[in-house]
Amino acid sequence: MIIAIDGPAGTGKTTVSKILAKRLSISYLDTGATYRALTLKALDNDVDLSNKDVLIDLAKTLNLQIQGENVYLEGVDVNFKIRTPVVDKNISLIVSYSEVRQIMVELQRKLAKIGDYVVEGRDITTVVFPQAEFKFYLDGDTSVRAQRRYNELIVKGLDVNFEDVKKDLIRRDNADKNRSTGALKISEDAKIIDTTNLTVAETVDELIKNVKKDETGR
Ligand code: C5P
Repeated sequence: MIIAIDGPAGTGKTTVSKILAKRLSISYLDTGATYRALTLKALDNDVDLSNKDVLIDLAKTLNLQIQGENVYLEGVDVNFKIRTPVVDKNISLIVSYSEVRQIMVELQRKLAKIGDYVVEGRDITTVVFPQAEFKFYLDGDTSVRAQRRYNELIVKGLDVNFEDVKKDLIRRDNADKNRSTGALKISEDAKIIDTTNLTVAETVDELIKNVKKDETGR
């Protein structure tokens, strides 16, 4: 079984997906982490990000292990490093290359091949797992989403300012919605959940309610 969750940044997708997977005793895959790890590798190797061919090669040879919440690049735990503003700033160009996305989509399908998974990202309901048993689209007011992202970065001890975080979130949203492949869009058969006024626990409850409702056919 696949529970596919899409939506823009700051909707709490990652947090609620982890909790949802735990509550249902199934696995969890954060596809954003795969693109983040690729971006980190490109930055660490001083790659010219406009050189698509080099990025395709990097994607093909990406030595990435994801075990639940733990992300290892070439055997090194990169969970903290992949979620920093420098990665946020540079990721959009890399994820816009359709050949790079194709390679990453194959990788994501392999990672969630065995067992039941909550998979979250931008194109999970439309491209990666269009046949998913459950599809959700999490949305939310832009300022509220930016505030959540800002809080996350501050808790991590990063020196950021709210307006910069908000600007970057809007820039990433636009890039995600307007690229030619794997764009962020609402799948016709996805249930939309507006998280603006919901806590994490309330969002998880809403997701569980929909999964259970469907399983019992009500
Ligand atoms: O979800 P997260 O914010 O960690 O994703 C990081 C970036 O990776 C997003 O801004 C988005 O551009 C990209 N992404 C994507 N397709 C996915 C997941 C993430 O293009 N399935």
